This record gives sequence, structure tokens and C-alpha cells, in this order.
Amino acid sequence: MPDMADARTDPAEPPASRPPVPLAQATLAVAAGRPPRVPDGPLNAPITMASTFHAGGEVGYGRYGNETWTMFETAVGALEGGSALSFASGMAATAAVLDLVPPGGVVVAQSHAYLGTLALLRRHEETGRLTVRVTDLTDTAGAADAAVGADLVWVESPTNPLLHLVDIATVAGAARRAGALTVVDNTFATPVLQRPLETGADLVVHSATKFLSGHSDLILGVVVATDPDLVSRLHATRSVVGSVPSSFEAWLALRGLRTLHLRVLAAQANAQELAARLAEHDLVAMVHYPGWGATVSFEVRGDAAVATRVTESTRLWVHTTSLGGVESGLERRRRWAGESVDVPETLIRLAVGIEDIEDLWRDLAAALFSATMKRS
Ligand SMILES: *Cc1c(COP(=O)(O)O)cnc(C)c1O
Repeated sequence: MPDMADARTDPAEPPASRPPVPLAQATLAVAAGRPPRVPDGPLNAPITMASTFHAGGEVGYGRYGNETWTMFETAVGALEGGSALSFASGMAATAAVLDLVPPGGVVVAQSHAYLGTLALLRRHEETGRLTVRVTDLTDTAGAADAAVGADLVWVESPTNPLLHLVDIATVAGAARRAGALTVVDNTFATPVLQRPLETGADLVVHSATKFLSGHSDLILGVVVATDPDLVSRLHATRSVVGSVPSSFEAWLALRGLRTLHLRVLAAQANAQELAARLAEHDLVAMVHYPGWGATVSFEVRGDAAVATRVTESTRLWVHTTSLGGVESGLERRRRWAGESVDVPETLIRLAVGIEDIEDLWRDLAAALFSATMKRS
């Protein structure tokens, strides 16, 4: 495992007279997870394409480890405050965490979690491997009751797509007292805005497909934990199942991660402005936004057809699912059959990117206007 104490402090090997200083998040995103500073050594992680390694070392074979993964993992671990392991996808990371729960175990899951996570939990329930209690964890008292007798509490905050917030510290505290592990899917918030391991969670999961890599050009997942026993169990699962990333994806993700701080803050500033302008707009019935983050949902006045027309009428915004890229995208969430019926038919989720705010607003306002006009 990479040494996180090193990753979180100045990598410049200070002389003994200069004690290591803890680095800020923006610095860690740039400085952590680099090759050693040796003359003519590369500044950046090399893409190590190797299925096997010379005998006598710690890794041995390409399914057990890869130095490009390790550099990406070192950087993510430094940002979240734990040891990270990368996986082939966010769902592979999720599956590895669920594998920590013993057969017959109980998982409490956020009712508005990622649809893939809920689908995987349902499969485990159908096969009899797990019992799943789908619970609204934004109700802190209800969450504490549900945690009794559970093995794992699966938190996602902000929730998707209504963007409600879970009190992670309180829910994780209740879970711990009940003897359950808490995992937070931190994909929407990113470690720039929320660090669950610092507020009592045991595990953090990311779809690195989204903000961590940030350019909508790869699929990758990560799990972060502080307990070395959990990390080694996850590593064992990854090694035996083979849910490993490619070194090229890990390299691209690390390249994207260098600008995480800039991207998240720029997208958040756009999202805050869009949420404020949408709230004032005649054709908007309701805005869902917790005040931070780069995802905004809103309900269009009218019906599902109007909302669909909005998503099909933009020129700059891309009509697409997913989020966390530099480009802004939007979709009507109920176009997915699996989406919760609690989500209004007219709800559009905005995955806000880093373009110019006036260009984004002009395009969205024009789409709202033309979609509404066509109705009459
Ligand atoms: C996309 C996503 C996932 C799944 O990640 P993949 O990389 O697509 O497997 C999990 N959780 C959240 C919140 C996501 O947005």
C-alpha cells in the first residue's frame, strides 16, 4: 500500500530542519501520486503496460497491482484521507464493497441512491445473499433505527436526482454504535466539497468516471478506506475477481485529477448561478439545489413532453446521462424506467460543466422558451 502519511505532506523531501507541512486539497491534487524525484526521472506517472513482472517483488502479476494504478490511488487516497484502490468501474468498486458483507447480511441503502447500486442490491436480495433495507437516510432518526442489526449502511449524499443531503456524521455514528460499517458514495460531492472519512464513514466509493477524471472519456472506480484490514480485504477481492482497471484509464484519470479542484469550483459557481436564475424563471416550477455542488435539478412547468422537448432543444448543453465532465449535460430523469416514482416526470437534472455561464444560460433559457412555445 502507498504510504498515505507521505502523500499528504510535502513530497519535496524537506531537510530535517524543515518539518513536513500538511498540504491543501488543491495542492494534493497536483502533487500527490508522482514518481520519485530522481535525475531524469519522469515528472508524471508512466503508463505501465505489463501483464507480469520480474519475480522477487511485491506485485508479481498484473492483476495484483500496477504502478500507474498506484499513483492514481495515492493521489485519490491523499484527497480523501485514506488508502485508495482503483477498480474497473464505479460499479466494480461498489460490488467489491458489498462483498465485504457476509452472506445473509443486512445492507441499509439510501432510497435515492445511484440506480445501478440499487439494481445490484436487488440482485443480491433476489439471490438470497443479502437483505436490503431501502431507507431515506436524509431522515436521520429513521436512519439510526434502520442501522440496528445492519452490517453496512450505504449513503449517497447529495441524493440523486433530488439533491437532498444526508447528515453523514450522525448517520455514521449511529451505524458505528449498531456495529455497521458506513460507506459513502462521494461521486457527486468529490473530496473537494465533502470528505466522509473525516466525519466518521469507514469507506468512500467513487465513480471516477465522473468528476475525478472529469472529461467523460473513461470508466473507472475507486474505494477509499482508513482501516488496513478493510483495504486488504478489498484488495483480495479485486485480485481474485479481476475487477481491475487498465493502466491507460488510470493514467488518464490521474491526468484529469490534477485539475479536480479548479473544475469542481468552476462548475459549482456555474451551478449556483444557474440555480438562482432558474428559481426566478416563469417556466420553472421548482429548483432542487442544496447550495453547493455542480448538479442542479429543476421541474419544468407543464408535462413530461415539455421537459423532454427542453432536453432536445439545447445546442450547447448535451442531452446525455452522466455527470462530472467539463461539458454541461442535461436529461429528464424519468426517461429511465428504473427511476424512482418520487421523482417528478418534469424533473430535468443538470450536470453543470465549466463553460461560460452566459453561454450556458442563453442556451438553456432559449430551450425552455422554445419547448414551452411548441405546446400552444
Ligand atoms: C456513475 C455512478 C456510479 C457508477 O459508476 P460507473 O463508473 O458508471 O460504474 C455510481 N455511483 C454514482 C453516484 C454514479 O454517478
